[in-house]
Amino acid sequence: MSIKTAREILKHQFGYDEFRMNQEPAIEAVLAKKDCVVLMPTGGGKSLCYQIPALMLDGLTVVISPLIALMKDQVDALRANGVEAAFLNSTQTAAEQVEVFRDVRKGKLKLLYVAPERLLQSGDQFLDFLRGINISLFAIDEAHCISSWGHDFRSEYLRLATLKKEFPSVPLIALTATADKLVRKDIFERLNVPDAELFLSSFNRPNIYYAVEPKRNSYGQLLAYLDKRKDESGIIYCLSRNSVDSLASDLRDEGYSALSYHAGLDKETRDKHQESFLKDETKIIVATIAFGMGIDKSNVRFVVHMDLPKNVESYYQETGRAGRDGLVSDALLFFSWADVLKLKGFAAVEGNAEQSAIMLKKLDLMGKFGDLMTCRRRFLLNYFSEESTEDCGNCDNCTTVVERFDGTVIAQKALSAVYRTDQRFGMSYLIDFLRGSKSEKIRDEHKNIKTYGVGADISKDAWFNYFKDLIAQNYLAQTDGEFPTIRLTEKSMDVLAGNTPVELIKVKVKEEKRSKLVADAVHRYEQALFDDLRRLRTTFAKHENVPPYVIFSDATLIEMATYLPQNGWELRKISGVGDLKFDKYGADFLAEIKTYCLTNSLVSRIDLKSNKRERKVRTKRDVSGKDTYHTSLDLYRDGRSISEIAKERGLSPTTIENHLIRFITTGEISLEQFVSMDKVETIQKAIMKFQPSDALSPVKEFLGDEYSFAEIRAVKAML
Ligand code: ADP
Ligand code: ZN
Repeated sequence: MSIKTAREILKHQFGYDEFRMNQEPAIEAVLAKKDCVVLMPTGGGKSLCYQIPALMLDGLTVVISPLIALMKDQVDALRANGVEAAFLNSTQTAAEQVEVFRDVRKGKLKLLYVAPERLLQSGDQFLDFLRGINISLFAIDEAHCISSWGHDFRSEYLRLATLKKEFPSVPLIALTATADKLVRKDIFERLNVPDAELFLSSFNRPNIYYAVEPKRNSYGQLLAYLDKRKDESGIIYCLSRNSVDSLASDLRDEGYSALSYHAGLDKETRDKHQESFLKDETKIIVATIAFGMGIDKSNVRFVVHMDLPKNVESYYQETGRAGRDGLVSDALLFFSWADVLKLKGFAAVEGNAEQSAIMLKKLDLMGKFGDLMTCRRRFLLNYFSEESTEDCGNCDNCTTVVERFDGTVIAQKALSAVYRTDQRFGMSYLIDFLRGSKSEKIRDEHKNIKTYGVGADISKDAWFNYFKDLIAQNYLAQTDGEFPTIRLTEKSMDVLAGNTPVELIKVKVKEEKRSKLVADAVHRYEQALFDDLRRLRTTFAKHENVPPYVIFSDATLIEMATYLPQNGWELRKISGVGDLKFDKYGADFLAEIKTYCLTNSLVSRIDLKSNKRERKVRTKRDVSGKDTYHTSLDLYRDGRSISEIAKERGLSPTTIENHLIRFITTGEISLEQFVSMDKVETIQKAIMKFQPSDALSPVKEFLGDEYSFAEIRAVKAML
């Protein structure tokens, strides 16, 4: 028997063509018996980093995971791909456990999942057992649980330090989706792997669209939101068990398929609800944060937070449960400062002032995120210490057109209020002061200042927005802490002296202009066929008693419904179709696709699938502006670059590109300004190749990374 390479296993066992992110180097490091720490976002594909080595190394890989609920699914998914795996936990009967032990001794298993408390049971019984067998690798999942700096500290994890001492020659791989530097340091130290190699991937989740809405009538807002998402799977998080129960029942009354999940329900109900959600029988799960740790459902299309999460890590982890299949998904947060205040009450860690301060600081940053006026993804990436200077084009702030106006006088009023009150007050006080509030809160000496009451003509809400805008633009600064005060900045004096004009966002003319481009690019598949395939999948899932995505993920079915493979050879090109699944299900799925194609006179489109690169979701949204086109054109003619215009107008560069491309057709801008002439012919040919289809993504896919959408769009406009 020949020894398979990692890549061969990726293709044959798991059905994937390409490694993602740091999977390949991490696997190589493990195979070289090095310890490693892998930081990858949720859904990035951490599991394969130890699953593939487990298959290549001699012996048993022990996976330590705190999530008992996850174990069964992971093992099911592995078995569905023909990997011998098992788990040991308290949900099993004694007989079942005995059988697992027997299989381990016989060397039948490649992977064994256990909880940390089991691994280090009293008397080290389990460790003794492990000493007697051949261990190839230890994989520590959710490794951030070892750090008290993190958001999910578990004391059992501290005892994992013994692993490296007891088994010095067995490589250890630690994996987490938390990238915080302090957490990272703890992982190296506390697991005793100071020389481990670090694999740090970008934490960006390009397919998730981040949006925040002010929390006013959140139930009404939610209904409006769900109305556009009938039949999609989603998670709705609430802070309290009571609100979970009442929201789930309200949604059911509205006709939605929704169930609740929280720690107050008995285990049986919880499991039933979770199972029903995983199997797609229930579309929406309304839950406290007790739900979701390790939920591996790949087709969650939206995650809504009715209440504020207590820190950005939790927010990112919870929203990260959307779109694991790489398809376009949504994260929506209903935000209010009242929530921040409410959470402050819970943030304190008893008897630990230091820890409390950390938690409060984290909460504060969560509040900042809610209030943010700039690109949300950039904030998130910077939060996780990733450099990111570009606007993403795929968050509410990037896709919202904001009109600005000359707000110099307003800015001067605000700044002078700060100045006259000696930079010692917070936003609310300053606003009351500006509006000439008669309240006793306003100090008497302040009532005699000239600035008192000069802003009475502007509403409180509007003032809040102006202040935030001024802070965002660095004309003012806000201190951290429980009672933040507003300070002047270096830029303030010029404004007060009347030397700098200030532009402010015109309140309440935010006009959402989220385009459908991404949706079009991804959803250009045969919906009816997709539905047929899903039904077929459910039949298999029911029969084998596993969640549907264990058979094939949505992403895989969508590829089938996009590329319409007509024979086995073509089907093998679909991502997610490994050898075992091909043998088990291939014929049935092919038959379904072929029947559909016959009925609808369709042929294979497998040629559209370039096998070099994975199909990537486009994230930059294209926006169809109105008369804003000319504003962009004028600025362009003034000699400003696209990124300068984007910045100036508070729009994404993609939007500006689209504005300008329009003028290529009218001849007001020449094509050469957009595309180098030697590329034009190639692009032209590619476009013709795919006609009469209007979709750009096949063209882009065909052309590859050297050609941008902007270039393709420009040439297309010319044609
Ligand atoms: P994580 O543990 O990092 O959250 P998983 O390991 O559960 O992520 O992987 C998320 C999904 O991505 C799974 O459905 C997995 O099968 C899939 N996946 C992993 N690696 C690849 C790859 N190289 N190509 C395509 N899909 C992949
Ligand atoms: Zn953005």
